[in-house]
Amino acid sequence: MKTEHSTQPWFTFYASAALFACVLSMLLVATDRAPKTNHPDMAVPILMYHHVGDWGAANADWAPYVVKPQEFQRQLDWLLAHQFHTITFQELLAYQSSNVRPPAHSVILSFDDGWAEDVDIAKKFLTPRGMRGVFFVYTGAVAEQDNGSGYVSWNQVRQLEAAGHEVQSHTVSHAPLNTLAPSRLEFEMINSRDTMQAHVGHSVEVLAYPFGRHDERVIQATRDAGYKLGIAADDEIVSVEPRSEWGKFQVRRFKVAYGDGIDVFAARMAEHAQK
Ligand SMILES: [Zn+2]
Repeated sequence: MKTEHSTQPWFTFYASAALFACVLSMLLVATDRAPKTNHPDMAVPILMYHHVGDWGAANADWAPYVVKPQEFQRQLDWLLAHQFHTITFQELLAYQSSNVRPPAHSVILSFDDGWAEDVDIAKKFLTPRGMRGVFFVYTGAVAEQDNGSGYVSWNQVRQLEAAGHEVQSHTVSHAPLNTLAPSRLEFEMINSRDTMQAHVGHSVEVLAYPFGRHDERVIQATRDAGYKLGIAADDEIVSVEPRSEWGKFQVRRFKVAYGDGIDVFAARMAEHAQK
């Protein structure tokens, strides 16, 4: 049935606009899948760990953030057996700035919060396998020397860096950034970076949002502070369009949880490989 709308100019205008929007969105999707991508999470799987230990079963709240040592070893050995090799965020940024896709089977192993056990994780598990980790540390918890606080000291941060691992920012106080006033937000970003840069021999250009919490305002502040990547979790709040330049500020990670057997781990890696 012919309607009177089809003959009116405004209808033609809206139909054209809709077609244009449709083509534009298809082009954006196509750009998203192009081999040279600005979306590092699409190119390189990033795994998120917090603790390696046997106590996950005894504490349900922490279970998502603890991995059994024997499972952790299996995961690392699975990665090696499948030709994966670890890279750092600095290396990822270098590939990105030269617009080169990182080599196939690159993976980033990230560890949050700067627990003192990070030093053992690196020594016992990573270094013997020739693997490197990236440790997101919040600077307010870090003392100059080891003091039994449960967090790494700057002395230990330097040891990690000297062994080829990398430390990046997880803010100053680990507060959820989306709840903070603008001046505090800026402080969390700039002070953590400046403090960290005074202790490590490289630029700190990557920020992991505490609790994965971010929104448009947090992303804008992260960009304004000069960071090049903003790292989320896999259960983060996403309130912005994931395509576009903003994708660099909501990079996703795979959380490896207690009770994830090697089959679950392998399935998630395979899922990523198919993207
Ligand atoms: Zn954290």
